[in-house]
Amino acid sequence: MNTQWETVIGLEIHAQLATKSKIFSGASTAYGAEPNTQACAVDLGLPGVLPVLNEEAVRMAVIFGMAIEAHIAPYSVFARKNYFYPDLPKGYQISQMDLPIVGVGHLDIDVDGVSKRIGITRAHLEEDAGKSLHGSFHGLTGIDLNRAGTPLLEIVSEPEMSSAKEAVAYMRKMHELVRYLGICDGNMQEGSFRCDANVSVRPKGQKEFGTRAEIKNINSFKFVEKAINHEIERQIEVIESGGTVVQETRLYDSDKDETRSMRSKEEANDYRYFPDPDLLPVLIDEDFKAQIKAQLPELPQAKKQRFKDDYVLDEENATILTSSRSLADYFETVVKESGCEAKMCANWVTGDLLAALNRADLEITDSPVSHERLAGLLKRISDDTISGKIAKQVFEELWQSTATADEIIEAKGLKQITDTGAIEAIIDKIIADNQDQVEQYRSGKDKVFGFFVGQVMKEMQGKANPGEVNKMLKAKLQ
Ligand code: ADP
Ligand code: MG
Repeated sequence: MNTQWETVIGLEIHAQLATKSKIFSGASTAYGAEPNTQACAVDLGLPGVLPVLNEEAVRMAVIFGMAIEAHIAPYSVFARKNYFYPDLPKGYQISQMDLPIVGVGHLDIDVDGVSKRIGITRAHLEEDAGKSLHGSFHGLTGIDLNRAGTPLLEIVSEPEMSSAKEAVAYMRKMHELVRYLGICDGNMQEGSFRCDANVSVRPKGQKEFGTRAEIKNINSFKFVEKAINHEIERQIEVIESGGTVVQETRLYDSDKDETRSMRSKEEANDYRYFPDPDLLPVLIDEDFKAQIKAQLPELPQAKKQRFKDDYVLDEENATILTSSRSLADYFETVVKESGCEAKMCANWVTGDLLAALNRADLEITDSPVSHERLAGLLKRISDDTISGKIAKQVFEELWQSTATADEIIEAKGLKQITDTGAIEAIIDKIIADNQDQVEQYRSGKDKVFGFFVGQVMKEMQGKANPGEVNKMLKAKLQ
């Protein structure tokens, strides 16, 4: 990348709130129904109907606000954002403008081991529009209004990210957070979590921001990174060839890996915002907040600190294990059930288990190895029934079958040999067969020791107790 330029990025994330019914009507929000079977008179904006605010959506917005340590507005207002679009039958979208429900907060991201705090300007409630379906009918556009009125939380960041990598880290962290809080299912294919990326470049050291372009509706982490990097290059090219970047809305085409202009950017006053006369202001009192606070789950940041303090985990393991609530719960259950050292449990969960889950493209909630069965395996490592190496073999079996670790160890005869007589016999044999190496060791080549350990282990099919082998070898080689 050209080093004379620096990038400024701000993200607007739309998270669909996981309420059962819509934000202003009783219609279902379930995804995938037959077109237009879940749009009621309120969602269609028919004359004579009135919207009624869904308290659950408010509750979820407040939960979010608390999680990012934001100011929760005691008084917030819904506004009409007026524009014409085929999938917006009312001719306006109910949103919030001047007085959003969630004020200034922040989210900490980690990029290459460095933590950075990203400011969040605001988060407001609004309704989603319907969908235009191009391509379903020859020469026609279909309109599906099932999504109309689905609750969204729009989360606006400060322009404080300076690379596509940081933007992806922010988007991932936000994705984890809303799922962790249980306020959004995070399903990006279904559009439950998507973002608009605002990108500008400026000469290094310049104070004022450059002109930004906004890339609309990106629904994958991979595309966010690609779209932003592409846009940065495009803007630099425009400026370096003597042109100016225009403020506009662009669309990312993932097939061609390019962004293209959609429309020139509209200003807030183009939308003729005004307070929606059909809806009362939202009043949030201390009682309501206290009630939510009491039900708030332990937040990721606090959980991570607790994992570091109580389980003596390093930063990396603590970060991975608290990346989702289900993973954190799984780990804590394994610690409890196995009674083993937390560090060992953490290494197994973040190591072998997560690697296997990744390979199989599975979530922890669908793990073929339950926490009981993993705990059963770890118990046998810590009581020296099997070595760490054999444990990996048992883990593979746990993954493939439904047997317990004890059953596998028994059936395959994998118990560790601690019988010193048996180990001694093998050691004597190995020493007798490798006199050259014995000479080398005795003349000071300590490295050869590893060779002996390897030979003994091989001879005993990995089942010898490694501690015992080490001790006896040392004595014999003296
Ligand atoms: P709008 O609502 O019209 O899109 P906002 O002022 O609310 O505009 O900003 C939207 C997003 O654009 C915010 O996330 C903000 O951080 C980001 N942003 C604003 N100015 C710039 C800029 N010059 N470069 C990059 N991002 C910007
Ligand atoms: Mg915008």
